[in-house]
Amino acid sequence: MSRSPDVLVIGGGVIGGAVALSLADRGLAVTVLESGRIGRGASWAAAGVLAPDWSGHDPAVLTRLAADSLAMWPEWVAELERRSGIGLNFRRDGLINVQADPSAESLPPELGVEPPPLAAGERLSVSELRRMEPILTGPILGGVLDGEVAQVDNPRLTPALMRAAADRGAIVREGALVIGIERAGSRCVGVRLADGSILSAGAVVLAAGAWSGPLAESIGVSALPMTPWRGQMLLFDAPAQPVRRIIFCGELVLIPRPHGPLIVGTTFENAGFDCRVTLGGIAHILARADRIVSGLGDLPFSRAWAGLRPGTPDGMPHMGPVQGWDGLFAATGHGRKGIILAPLCGELMARLIVEGDFDDRLEGCRPGRRMPNLDA
Ligand SMILES: Cc1cc2nc3c(=O)[nH]c(=O)nc-3n(C[C@H](O)[C@H](O)[C@H](O)COP(=O)(O)OP(=O)(O)OC[C@H]3O[C@@H](n4cnc5c(N)ncnc54)[C@H](O)[C@@H]3O)c2cc1C
Repeated sequence: MSRSPDVLVIGGGVIGGAVALSLADRGLAVTVLESGRIGRGASWAAAGVLAPDWSGHDPAVLTRLAADSLAMWPEWVAELERRSGIGLNFRRDGLINVQADPSAESLPPELGVEPPPLAAGERLSVSELRRMEPILTGPILGGVLDGEVAQVDNPRLTPALMRAAADRGAIVREGALVIGIERAGSRCVGVRLADGSILSAGAVVLAAGAWSGPLAESIGVSALPMTPWRGQMLLFDAPAQPVRRIIFCGELVLIPRPHGPLIVGTTFENAGFDCRVTLGGIAHILARADRIVSGLGDLPFSRAWAGLRPGTPDGMPHMGPVQGWDGLFAATGHGRKGIILAPLCGELMARLIVEGDFDDRLEGCRPGRRMPNLDA
């Protein structure tokens, strides 16, 4: 007779996968419930850039969490590749944060924003920049090179996590849409699936990405406010790598993948839960690329896609216990940083759930914290 799992994880993305693996490694019986196919949400659509602070828009405390997580990556990813047998192409080639001239005629305002001050960054003059990356043209003032920034083949990441977790006994169920979270008194006791079945467990982790918000609201939990932020991405076939490092400027990002293709993104749109590509989104990306990059129009276009970043009002993830629901934990709302944060999130959530250890670093992520944008 099969016993109830210790923990049910709602959502089979990189966050659900990282949490499931850390729990399974601690000997817990874990079941992951994924409504569609694992790793096909934001975790698949992402750029795979592992940069603690590439925009300067994020709260400092989030940047510190991301830096801590980045420090875990080399060992974490090597171990994951070994255990899963899936190559993840972790590479530390660095990122160049380019500053365009804000006074240039009809420059989209976000391109002219000063790069964030990077501790590990090296300032580059325009001529140094153009020597390093000849594709850069247009009204550029200079840039900052952060050699610590890495990238990973993110579409393979969730399958690797799930395979490693399954090797430790975790059960991964695809096509399992959770429509409710069950409780008895103040205790969370399991979930309800769309087929009407109820699954019991000692604890439940809500890791359903952008869809965590509506699920929380449906059970009357207001402590997890979220907004889906759509990001569109383009892929070009590039026979010889047109850039060597990741290039970032405002919202524009160019990522050279090791085997040739060039990814160009992105948008930041509130389009509800619609994650389709639009011509407007493609035009937006190309118009920005056209201002600082030459020759993109000559590359063969391969495809475009979009994904939903799980955003929160204060830009911080929701990680921790959900008040009034003993045994319900949130691991969601990682916005633009869910890939880089995955190792740390898995570790801190497992410590919390298994050992009851609420790491100080989770304080700013506590579900139900004051949200200046909402509470003001
Ligand atoms: C265009 C784009 C670029 C990005 N670039 C980067 C980057 O370079 N670096 C970085 O660190 N981050 C990046 N991100 C952010 C990162 O992708 C996300 O923060 C991260 O993938 C979130 O992971 P997740 O597991 O929470 O969500 P998801 O990957 O979306 O997974 C959630 C899963 O839950 C499932 N689900 C939803 N509802 C239910 C339900 N009711 N029952 C069962 N299952 C359910 C979904 O089907 C989905 O598979 C980017 C995001 C986008 C969209």
